Amino acid sequence: MHLPLSAELINPRVRRGPFRVAVFDFDGTLSLIREGWPQVMVSLMLDRLREQRLIAEPEAECAAHVEAFVMALNGHPTMRQMERFAQEVTARGGTSAEPVVYLQQYLDALMSVVRGRWEALESKRAQPSDWVVPNAHGILRNLQERGVPLFVASGTDLAHVSREVELLELTPYVGGRVYAPKDNDASFRKRDVIERAIRELAVRGEELIGFGDGVVETQEVKRAGGVAVGVASSTAGVRGVNASKRETLIAAGADLIIPDYEHAPELLAWLYGE
Ligand SMILES: [Mg+2]
Repeated sequence: MHLPLSAELINPRVRRGPFRVAVFDFDGTLSLIREGWPQVMVSLMLDRLREQRLIAEPEAECAAHVEAFVMALNGHPTMRQMERFAQEVTARGGTSAEPVVYLQQYLDALMSVVRGRWEALESKRAQPSDWVVPNAHGILRNLQERGVPLFVASGTDLAHVSREVELLELTPYVGGRVYAPKDNDASFRKRDVIERAIRELAVRGEELIGFGDGVVETQEVKRAGGVAVGVASSTAGVRGVNASKRETLIAAGADLIIPDYEHAPELLAWLYGE
């Protein structure tokens, strides 16, 4: 089986299966419900800096700097990004609020967008397939049929991830194996989820396959010795590789880059060396 044309092989020496455990990030990797969150977070941070007149450089330069540290921390609990922002305020000579205050402001802004998407799904005005990375259900089903236990590890609050797993009808695949920070617990680490999954299933690190659109899960899957598939997903309704995600994922160590799961059967057949 050839690698589907939509997939880009970054590491030609990537190990080709079989895999005995799979870990998926949630936002941007399975779900698109939170798409647009970086813009919400960055614009909130810029507002707070502007209020205290802490932007000395050109606004675009400041925005790029803020976006860079926000994206570098993508995959960690959201609280980590707020802690980093509080440091930024202090470093610029301002008076920082507690990180938890910034977190609440961010969640309020984001949730006004997310709630609308929840309601559309609940009322069946939207279908689960409208708000997942294309063919997410297909790749989960394929891996499940291969007997691979599927885990979700997310930096988003557990209550929200659990609800969205349900709304997106992903429970048959990942139910009972969804891990995320409870009540925004900043000590949550994807590394712990991966290490525990490997230990409890008594598999080797190289038998792990991970899917993610962020730095943290990609690095952690590589650290554990697994195969990291970088999902450079775009926004809902848009096809193709997101160029900035692709670059970040390659730098983080991704073995392959895919835009979505449209060619999941071919991709998995290739990854399994069939
Ligand atoms: Mg993500």
